[in-house]
Amino acid sequence: MQPSWKMLLKQSQLTPLQLLQNLNLPLTLLDELKIANRLFPLRITPGFLSRIEKGNPKDPLLLQVLPLGAEKFNPPGFVEDPLDEQSQNPLPGLLHKYHGRVLLITSGACAINCRYCFRRSFAYAENNPGQQGWDLVLAYIENDPSICEVILSGGDPLTLTDSSLKKLLTGLEKITHVQTLRIHSRIPVVLPERIDGHFGQVFQNTRLSKVMVIHTNHANELDETVFSALDALKNLGFQLLNQSVLLKGINDSTETQVALQRKLFAFGVLPYYLHLLDPVKGAAHFEVSKAEAQTIMSEIVKILPGYLVPKLAREIPGESSKRIIPLQTELQ
Ligand SMILES: *Cc1c(COP(=O)(O)O)cnc(C)c1O
Ligand code: SF4
Repeated sequence: MQPSWKMLLKQSQLTPLQLLQNLNLPLTLLDELKIANRLFPLRITPGFLSRIEKGNPKDPLLLQVLPLGAEKFNPPGFVEDPLDEQSQNPLPGLLHKYHGRVLLITSGACAINCRYCFRRSFAYAENNPGQQGWDLVLAYIENDPSICEVILSGGDPLTLTDSSLKKLLTGLEKITHVQTLRIHSRIPVVLPERIDGHFGQVFQNTRLSKVMVIHTNHANELDETVFSALDALKNLGFQLLNQSVLLKGINDSTETQVALQRKLFAFGVLPYYLHLLDPVKGAAHFEVSKAEAQTIMSEIVKILPGYLVPKLAREIPGESSKRIIPLQTELQ
């Protein structure tokens, strides 16, 4: 019998030693792993682990989850809450920054912990609304007819149980001005087993338009198990989009980006955003400069069809949308 997704989620808590042994990596790395692990715990699903090349400390999937001593390096400007989100939520669990859309922080948990994540220091405990809190969030949305899209984010919203998702969905469906449900989740990629028959039943008959924005940074993240999950989502009527973060040593080359976008398309997914790293404490070693990013972008537009070119974006606290970065700084 296949293990359930909940079982696989439990198995994603590895110790640094288990990770090194599983991947045949030198045990000399153990000390720095342990130190960084205390800042933000190691977490990796069995599926994602199986796509990492054994014995390769530079594997592009491994580098996304491997705690490193470099996380102690904190140049100025790298802070705990780079997006200043903690001052932008009118209610616990709700962010209302942009017109017509609200973002709900439905769960603090993720199936993997990405070392570059801008929420690695986010205060989830205070921000988790709990059951009564959800009623307040729904009332807030109901009282603002300009809100037509609700984004489930996190953490990862698909760590919620099907019954919690169903409850939330039922509440949103009752609000007539809500038209679109968007889910931001890395789970279809890192824990594709989550997209099972029960999940399908929750979303099958909703009146809402559905968008799933997955998060993939490298073509090696996409295997047949991911293909099946994405196929199931498409059959449920989800529009599939991908966002990535541009990460040094992982996907900061033209070839890697071209391969990623082509493979995503073969899996039925169109690109959405390519984000410049948010300057979160502990992630400075992943930074790719804006100028390097623009160079990569100006190369990929020459190779890929327009519909496979992501928008290079950066989030700037206090602005009314994400900032789209042009290919060249000066227009001719
Ligand atoms: C990114 C984001 C959104 C969605 O923005 P889009 O440009 O529509 O993808 C909404 N709310 C918050 C708080 C966000 O960070
Ligand atoms: S929120 Fe997304 S990027 Fe951050 S740790 Fe979770 S899965 Fe990774």
